[in-house]
Amino acid sequence: MQIPVRPKNEQIVLESDPLTKTKDLTISLHQLERSAGTPLQIDLQAPVQASISSSTVVPGSLVSTSVVLESVRGGVIASGTVRARWMGECARCLEVAYGHLEAHVRELFEPGGGAFDKETYPLGDDWVDLEPMVRDACMLELPLRPLCSPNCKGLCSECGTNLNEHSCDCSLGTPFQ
Ligand SMILES: [Zn+2]
Ligand SMILES: [Zn+2]
Repeated sequence: MQIPVRPKNEQIVLESDPLTKTKDLTISLHQLERSAGTPLQIDLQAPVQASISSSTVVPGSLVSTSVVLESVRGGVIASGTVRARWMGECARCLEVAYGHLEAHVRELFEPGGGAFDKETYPLGDDWVDLEPMVRDACMLELPLRPLCSPNCKGLCSECGTNLNEHSCDCSLGTPFQ
C-alpha cells in the first residue's frame, strides 16, 4: 500500500523523530519474580509496525500497550489492551481514512513459544518481548474496508465526483459503493 499523504481535515500527532525514540517492548521479569505472584502492570507506548493490504498502523505513531503480566505454571500470561491509530484508503471515496483500533489481548508466553506453535509467544529466561503480541493484535483489528467516515458518500458512479465535497449533475445517480 502506498503511504497516503497528510489528510485534509485531520492533524496527526507524531512523536518528534520517532525512529530515534523507539522504545523496546521487552520487559524484564526480575520485578515479576521478586513480587511472588503479584501481577505486574505494564503501560508502554512504542512505535510498532503492523499493516494489512488495506490499512496500516500510522507509521511512527505510538501504540499504547497496557497489560498485566502474571506468572503461571509454565509461563507468563499477558492480558490487557492494545490501542493504536490506523490509516488507509477509504473504500468509498479513496481519500485517506484514519481511525483508532483497540484490541483486547490475553496471551501465554512460554519457553519455546512462538516457534512452531502460534498459540503462544516466546518467553526468555528473565524477559518477555511483547512486540509480536502487540503487532498481531493490531493486525487483527486493522480495518479490511477502511472508511473516512461512516457517512462517506463515496464517488459518483457516473462522473467520479467525490460526493463528500461536491454534488454533480448526474442528478439521480446513486453513489458508488
Ligand atoms: Zn470516504
Ligand atoms: Zn456525477
